[in-house]
Amino acid sequence: MATCPACNHDVRTPFFLNMDAWRHLVCPQCKARLEMKPPRSFVLGPLIAPLFVLARQGRVFEITAFAFMFATIFLLLLESTHPKVQLRKKPLPEPSIRLNIDDPSN
Ligand SMILES: [Zn+2]
Repeated sequence: MATCPACNHDVRTPFFLNMDAWRHLVCPQCKARLEMKPPRSFVLGPLIAPLFVLARQGRVFEITAFAFMFATIFLLLLESTHPKVQLRKKPLPEPSIRLNIDDPSN
């Protein structure tokens, strides 16, 4: 269960790997379109690799690297089982290629 950011009502969240259900997630109370908040522990992921490079320097670093890795995995699993939702922003219809029809040099 998560809380709708628009009306503070409980929203039944699908299993975190069920991407199709997440794509169509709507608050049953206010019909606000919702999406999963990316887990914060994802930012810790890129730090694991440099820590393992450092782990070659000694046993203390090695233990620190392993502890950090397990903590990151644990946090990710914890956040995945209790996903938070945020309001889905409308996709911006911004064109990637702009046609230059009104060229002043012509
Ligand atoms: Zn709502």
